[in-house]
Amino acid sequence: MHVAVCGGGNAAHTLMAFLGSRADVQTALYAPYRDEAARWQRGVMWRGGIVAHTAQGLVVGRPDQITNQPEEVIPAADVVILALPAFAHRVVLEAIAPYLKAGVWLGAMPARGGFLWEVEAVLGSRVKDIVVFGLQTLPWACRIRTFGQDVDVLGTKHVVDMAIKPPSLAQRLSTYLSDWFNVKIQPVRSFLALGLADVGQIIHPGIMYGLFRDWDGTPFPEPPLFYQGMDEATAAILDAMSNEVLSIRRALEAAYPHLDLSAVRHVGEWIRRTYQGSIRDESSLHCCFVTNESYRGIRAPVRPVDGGYVPDFQARYLSEDVPFGLLVTRGIAELAGVPTPTIDAVITWAQEKLGREYLRDGRVAGRDVAETRAPQRFGHKRLQVES
Ligand code: NAD
Repeated sequence: MHVAVCGGGNAAHTLMAFLGSRADVQTALYAPYRDEAARWQRGVMWRGGIVAHTAQGLVVGRPDQITNQPEEVIPAADVVILALPAFAHRVVLEAIAPYLKAGVWLGAMPARGGFLWEVEAVLGSRVKDIVVFGLQTLPWACRIRTFGQDVDVLGTKHVVDMAIKPPSLAQRLSTYLSDWFNVKIQPVRSFLALGLADVGQIIHPGIMYGLFRDWDGTPFPEPPLFYQGMDEATAAILDAMSNEVLSIRRALEAAYPHLDLSAVRHVGEWIRRTYQGSIRDESSLHCCFVTNESYRGIRAPVRPVDGGYVPDFQARYLSEDVPFGLLVTRGIAELAGVPTPTIDAVITWAQEKLGREYLRDGRVAGRDVAETRAPQRFGHKRLQVES
């Protein structure tokens, strides 16, 4: 089997280590960004492969090809994986589209909201000839140690949700992915469910809003704790945002009785399920966050300045989670006629911090919607529900 990974960052390093370690997989890296392909070639040659440092030991992968030319690796690929931040999906999809063979399995790790719509927009009618899949998140927390050589795998998730079109292939793909990455892959029924169920879109922008909406510009002496620094008011914001997402779920299930959105859960249920055993006090949503040992010591994104630290509003918690997450959900709510006042407040604050306009007069009609994956960006006037 030929697998091509598109990207060059943390995720691509980890994927190439795992995939390249297997005798039954031919691996190719398509790294189009700047001089990354040349840096990968030099690093891999020097190190003899890509080395992932995991809690279980070293995983060493040897990529068969590394290039910045899609025509050299994409035509042979049976599986193509985008291992990229969502803002780079479009440009890479456009570059590889002419070379994808019929029957290829094309996916993203992670997919984020609206990935299937993006693929449909780029491939047009050709999308019916390919399989599209997406994982809700990356299975690992990982950071490059030395570019093109070593990557640290800091943690591995127990289970990761996955959507695939057509859903009949879910079992086959989850068997492959579980085997390749030693992670339990849990199929959900649709990309719609995968996107709505993503709690990162609630937790990351919601906590940024809670931590910094009243910030007066004075530098912090040290970076605030992100999860453990949250107060009860922030927990109430997460609760309200999550309840709004559940209202969207209920409205969609009423309108489309065949739709299975059971993967869309309240953030409180999610955190108790996900972090069983690592939460000391489960008595409230606030306690679940501040007593979760897995969140211990994690700081908010900041930039150093004279006199301390200021919030980094360009960090992915806003710049990725809003246009490729929360706004997609907000756009779905608009099509479903569901009011989302708390989500609107968070997006309105975040768009100002990002220097963008997504919501205008309470609608997903701001000047920068074209750079998001809200359904309105694709011209959807009604919800496109996958069968
Ligand atoms: P990263 O910051 O390492 O990725 C940056 C890479 O993306 C660049 O090195 C380049 O290869 C590529 N890229 C950026 N702009 C590009 C462009 N315009 N054209 C082509 N390529 C471009 O990111 P990452 O850590 O690998 O994360 C990838 C995705 O996984 C993100 O959505 C991230 O939020 C998510 N994620 C990462 C982790 C983690 O621990 N690394 C954990 C969970 C989720």
